[in-house]
Amino acid sequence: MKLVLLGAPGAGKGTQAALIAEHFQIPHISTGDIFRENIKNETELGLKAKHYIEEGLLVPDELTTDLVVHRVQEEDCENGYILDGFPRTIPQAECFDAVLEELGMHLDVALDVDVKDEVLIRRISGRRVCSVCGETFHVESLPPKTEGICDVCHGPLIRRKDDDPETVLHRLQVYREKTEPLIAYYKERGILVSVDGDRPVETVFEDIIKILEAFS
Ligand code: AMP
Repeated sequence: MKLVLLGAPGAGKGTQAALIAEHFQIPHISTGDIFRENIKNETELGLKAKHYIEEGLLVPDELTTDLVVHRVQEEDCENGYILDGFPRTIPQAECFDAVLEELGMHLDVALDVDVKDEVLIRRISGRRVCSVCGETFHVESLPPKTEGICDVCHGPLIRRKDDDPETVLHRLQVYREKTEPLIAYYKERGILVSVDGDRPVETVFEDIIKILEAFS
């Protein structure tokens, strides 16, 4: 199954993508995670992407599309994959579709996780991540056992720089302008499905699995 997850920042794409990947035993490809890893390791890609990410802007299409095109051709993607955070613009989607077509492949489903703005802002502003292992927590809905400390590796929890309130508003604007048009793009291609993401994680996941099993 080749799957794209759509949804605004804070819609729960990352959480659902990890669960879906485990359920179907396919790789979870998060462009945001790949960029963050590259920034942490100070690679050439990381240095190019850092400024855009910290400002809540999109990384240029060529950089992002190249990265994903190479990643989906790796051996572990043979039986499918789940893309989380890509595509984020119409040109990325068009370019990716063209590459897949050349390879004789196509996407099976574009799944939109739909959540209202006020809920998105509340979710993102309470989000904390472990600065060592990347595990995600939330001050209200998923607090760590000890405040400020990761349950998994005991590393310190931080707020992602792009999760600060001003940058979040900017990211939501960028989402509405550049990414939301993808909903119509995939609808036209007959592969769009939507789920209401403003429900507990397990309920959203159950719905998603029902939908995806009908496709697999
Ligand atoms: P995320 O973790 O998916 O919210 O991504 C964090 C940041 O990485 C975004 O705000 C963008 O700056 C950058 N990014 C991730 N995926 C893409 C993409 N497909 N196109 C452009 N920028 C991206």
